[in-house]
Amino acid sequence: MIGPDPYTPRSGDGSYDVVSYDLDLRYRVRTNRLEGRAIVNAVAAERVRSIRLDLVGLRVSRVRVDGDARTRFQQDASSLRVTLPRPLAAGEEFSVDVRYAGAPRPRRSTWGTIGWEELEDGALVASQPIGAPTWFPCNDRPDDRARFRIAVTTEDEYAVAATGVPRAPVRSGGLARWEFLSEVPTATYLAAVHVGPYRETALGDVRLFAPAALLPAARAWFADVPRIRACFESAFGPYPQEHCTVVVTPDPLEIPLEAQGLVVFGANHLVPEASRLVPHEIAHQWFGNSVGLERWSDIWLNEGFACFAEWVWSEASGGADIATLAEAHHARLQALPQDLVISDPGPRRMFDDRVYKRGALTLEALRRTVGRDVFGELLRTWVRTHRHSLVTTAAFRECVESVCGPAGLALVGPWLDSPVLPSLPPRTP
Ligand SMILES: [Zn+2]
Repeated sequence: MIGPDPYTPRSGDGSYDVVSYDLDLRYRVRTNRLEGRAIVNAVAAERVRSIRLDLVGLRVSRVRVDGDARTRFQQDASSLRVTLPRPLAAGEEFSVDVRYAGAPRPRRSTWGTIGWEELEDGALVASQPIGAPTWFPCNDRPDDRARFRIAVTTEDEYAVAATGVPRAPVRSGGLARWEFLSEVPTATYLAAVHVGPYRETALGDVRLFAPAALLPAARAWFADVPRIRACFESAFGPYPQEHCTVVVTPDPLEIPLEAQGLVVFGANHLVPEASRLVPHEIAHQWFGNSVGLERWSDIWLNEGFACFAEWVWSEASGGADIATLAEAHHARLQALPQDLVISDPGPRRMFDDRVYKRGALTLEALRRTVGRDVFGELLRTWVRTHRHSLVTTAAFRECVESVCGPAGLALVGPWLDSPVLPSLPPRTP
């Protein structure tokens, strides 16, 4: 059996793999009441008699495995233990049908309160890393990616944006049912739902959701998204997602956040100080959402690449160039404590800004060492080879060695593994 992720040891179950989640949710904005039916289609990874699903703060009323009424279950504060009507052998498929309800709310964690969150007028999901169980029963580990069908029925004055390709909403009796299908393998933390008084508009093929009062400002603010995407396509390879959705919430948010094919910003993020976060979140569609981490300890593979992508867009759009931005951040990091290893920062520091910036600096150091052309080939090879699959830092080293040779591999070692910040190699002409 695969053990739990060392950074989130109380989440997930390695004894099975989820193939798809089929979620049918009814949500009342006015009362924050969620009624859900989740069908979890899975395959046993070993012989199993019972399985564990993560679920927090919602009450389960019925569980059936393969339709069997003899299915037994037990619930505690963070999990649902399901005893299978008959033991399953490794490789056998099964389906768990869970009915549940309650008033969803975020859970407290090492990383703040995360998950389903009620807004002033609506709701959002911001799960990274362990918030997904606040709205559906799941195998909440980053290495268990699955397809999703998400249906949300809510009061028809609200709009719903979610991960997946949307169907036109069906309205009746004051309610609207929205449905979204994701065929790409999606981690539980990257599944998201946004319900609010949103208007939808298009920026090319980008779907933008914002409250009516914010729509003109949001249109102007996100007008570059199609160009950012095109810039990243030429740097990293084709856009790997089935759709591109931007949501601006009426409420201020602490940070913007990526989900599969979707990014969310707070009303407070439409300001110049936050403009770098637009390319950052878009870049996660390649780094994190398509090329996905297997373990949280490798979070630099998401964040370092997304920060580097901010610099790529800055240079391409006539702002400061990559080399200058890298030098500024290097100088800043030099003044901070050098007590963190980005290839294993520890769970409490996985979102430490040094993981982000030093991750990006690792890429810049490599670019200066092997040259732009080889470095460009490395990025495109990394994205192509690991499209919609799981990666580790070891896989990154292999990719560096195969594209950049032993010099590249030797260069990244101290950047990834030593707490001491290496010097940036000199600029390449
Ligand atoms: Zn990020």
